Amino acid sequence: MVKITAILEVLKALFKPVTTDYPKGPPTHVPPGIRGLPQFDEDKCIGCGACMTSCTSGAIDVIDQGANRTVDVSYMRCLFCGRCEEICPEEGGIVLSDKFELATTNKAEAHVTIKLKLTKCKSCGAPITATKQLERIKERILGKTDPKIPEEITRDLPKYLELCFECRKKQSYALDIHTRKFYLRRWET
Ligand code: SF4
Ligand code: SF4
Repeated sequence: MVKITAILEVLKALFKPVTTDYPKGPPTHVPPGIRGLPQFDEDKCIGCGACMTSCTSGAIDVIDQGANRTVDVSYMRCLFCGRCEEICPEEGGIVLSDKFELATTNKAEAHVTIKLKLTKCKSCGAPITATKQLERIKERILGKTDPKIPEEITRDLPKYLELCFECRKKQSYALDIHTRKFYLRRWET
């Protein structure tokens, strides 16, 4: 009896495939939590560039050109490490999907391009960052400001957001945005 069962098992192994005939058939099982293709949400992206700085394989570029900031992602370089998903400050801006079959003959399909309006320095014309990011900064700062000092913050904020770092540094006394005023006030009270 044992012999017959063993023979049947051998025959089964010979004639019935034990693995999926991949890639002819679809994969039968994608494990939960698999790190697959990162999907970028164009509407949620603010163009901050955090994903570029944390990308382990240089798959993301942020290019400031003319009136636009472009976030360009090359899936051909992506390792599915998930760093970009972790670092993105916008909820759902990048989500790793369970897609992993990326073979394509069309190069455009292997890229994601997000175009955003770029804000330039009012003084020297150098690019600052994406306008959407500046709006988000404003929203977050004003949302978390001590209600006792909103007037001063509201007055100073545009000076920070309309000038590049270098111009702010050079003009901080003239614009009265140098932090010394806060120290001086402490001394006076
Ligand atoms: S980290 Fe998120 S919000 Fe920032 S550029 Fe990348 S996708 Fe856009
Ligand atoms: S998953 Fe990793 S390698 Fe791919 S784009 Fe994001 S950070 Fe770069």
